[in-house]
Amino acid sequence: MANQPTLRLNDGRRMPQMGAGMWMVPDEVAARVVTDALDAGFRLIDGAAVYGNEKGLGRGIRETDIPRDEIFVTTKLWNDAQGYDAALARFDESMDRLGLDYVDLYLIHWPMPSRDLYVETWKALIRLREDGRVRSIGVSNFHPAHLDRLITETGVTPALNQIELHPSLPQVDLRAHNDRLGIVTQSWTPLGQGHVFASPVVLDIATRLGASAAQVVLRWHLQNGLSVIPKSTRPERLRENFAALDLELSDEDMAALNGLDSGHRTGPDPETFALM
Ligand code: NAD
Repeated sequence: MANQPTLRLNDGRRMPQMGAGMWMVPDEVAARVVTDALDAGFRLIDGAAVYGNEKGLGRGIRETDIPRDEIFVTTKLWNDAQGYDAALARFDESMDRLGLDYVDLYLIHWPMPSRDLYVETWKALIRLREDGRVRSIGVSNFHPAHLDRLITETGVTPALNQIELHPSLPQVDLRAHNDRLGIVTQSWTPLGQGHVFASPVVLDIATRLGASAAQVVLRWHLQNGLSVIPKSTRPERLRENFAALDLELSDEDMAALNGLDSGHRTGPDPETFALM
């Protein structure tokens, strides 16, 4: 993880600030995308059981010459396996597909408050960390009340909360709550799946800096201290996105981008989402 910024997790481990997202990457090309992402410089790969590509992802990690301990692999537990025993069993299935000895980060994908199983599920993740099969544990799409309950009932604070976050949905309050608890915020759909590229504010800054719109938006995440996991299957875009690490935005540009909040959510609301 040399030559790129890392963030310290509350369990003492470090992770690269920037990673490559794997949603909607077909399993047949996942190993190639992992290889291209590693070649571009990425050392964090963000997977999930529900993406259906853990086999290819794991193969890409196993086949590279880069040592395993220099790569940070995330995967996530899908909604239909919440509960203590179900989560432990489902983790084994993920590991079989990945073909790895451990994952660096395991996340509960959604809280699904209507099913009220996330505390029991969290206890399973604590057990997996104690057993050494997972290095760090965290959550995704958790709101303050869900985080507070996990901590009150188990005494264990998630290392990271991966949430929808982009300039149109900057999640200022949730970020502040994560910060108070010492939880790293990681931005999913950081490019708003492309819709932020149409913003005149983004385009103006990009033109002035000779950068792409994607690079400007990714740099905004990085300068806000967020971890960020853009997705692309194209080698040239992977390289372009990774090069956002070399950009620098002025305080004025950051302020302009911070002002783009429109409450535009591309994904579901975590309070009600319970898709199995
Ligand atoms: P994203 O914001 O990363 O946008 C991806 C889209 O932008 C793709 O269509 C891609 O072709 C395009 N793109 C990427 N780089 C570009 C560039 N340089 N120039 C032009 N276009 C470019 O959206 P995403 O894939 O939804 O999110 C990123 C990752 O976040 C996912 O792959 C996944 O790993 C994670 N995620 C997590 C959750 C969750 O619930 N935890 C939900 C959604 C996504």
